[in-house]
Amino acid sequence: MEITTFYDQWVILTGGMVAINCWLVTPGPFGGPAVSEGATRLPVVTATDAAEESCAAESLYPVDRLARARTAAAGAGLDGLLLTPGADLRYLTGYDAPPLERLTCLVLPSDGPGALVVPELELPRAAASPATDLAVDIVGWRETDDPFALVAGLLRDALDGGQPAAVGIADRMWAVQAMRLAAALPSARQVPASTVLGPLRMRKSAAEVDALRRAATAIDRVHEQLRGWRLVGRTELEVARDIADAILAEGHSRVNFVIVGSGPNGASPHHEASPRVIEHGDAVVVDIGGTTAEGYCSDSTRTYLVGDDVPTGFADLYAVLHEAQLAACAVVQPGVPVETVDAAARDLITAAGYGELFVHRTGHGIGLEEHEQPWVVAGNAEPLAPGMTFSVEPGIYLPGRYGARIEDIVVCIETGGERLNALDRNLVPLEG
Ligand code: ZN
Ligand code: ZN
Ligand code: ZN
Repeated sequence: MEITTFYDQWVILTGGMVAINCWLVTPGPFGGPAVSEGATRLPVVTATDAAEESCAAESLYPVDRLARARTAAAGAGLDGLLLTPGADLRYLTGYDAPPLERLTCLVLPSDGPGALVVPELELPRAAASPATDLAVDIVGWRETDDPFALVAGLLRDALDGGQPAAVGIADRMWAVQAMRLAAALPSARQVPASTVLGPLRMRKSAAEVDALRRAATAIDRVHEQLRGWRLVGRTELEVARDIADAILAEGHSRVNFVIVGSGPNGASPHHEASPRVIEHGDAVVVDIGGTTAEGYCSDSTRTYLVGDDVPTGFADLYAVLHEAQLAACAVVQPGVPVETVDAAARDLITAAGYGELFVHRTGHGIGLEEHEQPWVVAGNAEPLAPGMTFSVEPGIYLPGRYGARIEDIVVCIETGGERLNALDRNLVPLEG
C-alpha cells in the first residue's frame, strides 16, 4: 500500500509557512488501513501559535532525531518502534500527548515513513505540536475504528506487507495497549524501547541542558522562598501545599512530588507529607520537583533545621553528608564510570560509620522524566559522557530519629561536572 495515495486534504496554516497533511484511515477488510468515508476537517491553527511552536521545536526537537532513532532501532534488530504518550514520544516528536485510553501511537518503522496515529478528536492538538514540523504523517482514527489494526497495518506497509519480527514498545505503554498490539502483530516480539532510546536520551543536547537549567533555577527559587517561612506548629501537609503552590508559581506547569519529612519522618527517604506537626528542633528533609512547560524536570533536596537546637549527633552526620555530596560531584568527568559517582559519596559515608544508613543509590538521570537513565549506582560501568544529566543525592537516615539528604542536578561537561542547582548546601536553620 502506498501511503501517499491516502492524502485527502492539505491544510495550509495561515501565513503559508507550515503545511500539514492529514487524513482518516480505518482498517480495511484484511487488516490493512483503508481510506475512511468522509474527510476530517482540521481546525486551522493560528500563524502565531505555529510560529511559536516551531521556534521551540527547532531547539528542543531537532529533526534528525527520528533518523537517529531509526538507525538505533535497526541496529538492535527491530522492525520499528511503537511509542504511546510519554517521554519517548515527546523526545522524538515534541508532542506532549495525553495518556488516555484512546490510542495515540507513533509508528516509526526502522525503514520507512513514520506516522503519528491519534484519535480524531485530538488531531488539532497533535497538529499544533512540534510534530507538525517532522517528516511524520498525522493520522486520525474515529471512535468506531480499530486503532490497533491501523497501527499494525502501517507497520506492515513499511515492510511491504511482511510480518514484523520484533518491535520496541514504550516502557510505560499501558499493559492493555501492549496486549492489543501483541494481538494485532502476533509475529512481533516486543522489547522495551528504552534499550534503543535510553542511550540516545541519556546524552542531552545543549538545548535540553538549558531547559534543565531553567527547571533547576525555578526549583532553587522555591527553596529560597521556603527559607523565609516559619514551619513550627504547622503540619507537613500544610507546608507541602504551600510548596506545591510555589513550585507552580515559580515556573513549572506540574508538581511531581513534594516530600516534607520532619523529625523521625525524615528517616524515610520517600515519605511524602503527613499530618505531623513540625516542632522546634526538628530536622526537615524537603525534596521537591516539578515539570516545566518545556517538559523538563526539576528535583532538588535541602535539609533544614527548625530553630537553633541541633538534635544530638545531627551536626556530625550532616557534615559527613555534605562532604560526601561534594566529593561525588567532584569526580564527575567524561569517561569515568557512573558507579564512581556513587562510590565517591558512599566511601566517605561508610568511612564515617554511617554506611548502613545510606539506603539508596546516589542518584538517577533526569530529563523529560524525573527518573531515567543513567542510574547512579554500584554496578553501572557506563562511562560518563558530556550531556549526561543526573542527580547527586546521598542521604543518611537514622530510623526513629531523623534523616538528611542533599540533592543537586549535575551535568557532565567536557571539563568535568557542572551543578545546575546553585543554592548553597549548608544546614539552614529556619526561624523556630
Ligand atoms: Zn527518590
Ligand atoms: Zn529528589
Ligand atoms: Zn532525585
